[in-house]
Amino acid sequence: MSPTDADPGYVGAGGGGTLARGEFFTLAAGLTDARGAGKRAPHKPLLLLWLFGQFAATGSSAASYQQAEAPVSQLINDFGPPVASVVASRQRAAMPFVHLERELWDLRDADGIPIGSDVPERRPQLLGRGAVGRLRAPVEHLLADPGVMAAAARLLLEQHFTPILAELICAEVGLDMADLDLAGSVWKGGLDRSKLRRRGFAEEVLRAYAYRCAMCGFDGALGRHPVAIEAAHVRWHSQDGPDEVTNALALCALHHALFDLGVLGITEDRLILVSELYVAKSPAGQAVDALAGKPLLAPRPRHSPVDVVHVSWHHAQVFKHYHLGAV
Ligand SMILES: [Zn+2]
Repeated sequence: MSPTDADPGYVGAGGGGTLARGEFFTLAAGLTDARGAGKRAPHKPLLLLWLFGQFAATGSSAASYQQAEAPVSQLINDFGPPVASVVASRQRAAMPFVHLERELWDLRDADGIPIGSDVPERRPQLLGRGAVGRLRAPVEHLLADPGVMAAAARLLLEQHFTPILAELICAEVGLDMADLDLAGSVWKGGLDRSKLRRRGFAEEVLRAYAYRCAMCGFDGALGRHPVAIEAAHVRWHSQDGPDEVTNALALCALHHALFDLGVLGITEDRLILVSELYVAKSPAGQAVDALAGKPLLAPRPRHSPVDVVHVSWHHAQVFKHYHLGAV
């Protein structure tokens, strides 16, 4: 292809031909990342989910880096691990924008010349070259089937996040999974049964904590049935966290959501941490701050408390640290 083919409408048409559904799901399930084992890598999945939302809304996934930078960086800040500085937090979209697999993604400069994945993953370079990306035509063709889009989105969400975060992310990128399921053909190819939670896990955790939130002690019931009390993984199920009581806490629905979001954390001594990024004006909102420094409720006798190894994972990969001094 020559630079004279530089028609913005052409971007993404490269790599024409067809892509089988199975191949597409394999690519989506195998996004590579340079990070080491045990570290979360939600950058590419979040860029893809944002692109799915764009495609669902407009019929095109084409986006310049300038358009994508703020919303995608925000998604990574909200749903990814903490970042070292404020400067880095503003351009977190650059990494996936440059490195998303080229079988899926077509990245070009303002003249229509392809940009390789060897360019620096930095904002000035991408803005300077007028970088525009688009999912390749065969990918868009597949995503035009709402059932395929729903299955691909679900695969990414299940592989990289928790059910609570999945819901929040869908709302943020504008994907209505129920609508997509209704409109789409049924496709079960993306489901990996080995990823299902162990049966009885939730019940075991709730029983170990006597159906009480390990953070606030909430133990509400409707008649005889406990309500709004859930089994929370410390190291996420999607991130190879085991379905064991030593990797779990019974938490009320509020504290479960705040724990998955990294507002709440735990120290190695099993004391509760509250992120300094958390803000609340009302007494009800400030009740979360009051948890800081309190010990977690211990499980009932014969159950081991949560394992420090899993606590450390959550602390490094989920808890929202506040970096003072970052400019
Ligand atoms: Zn609670």
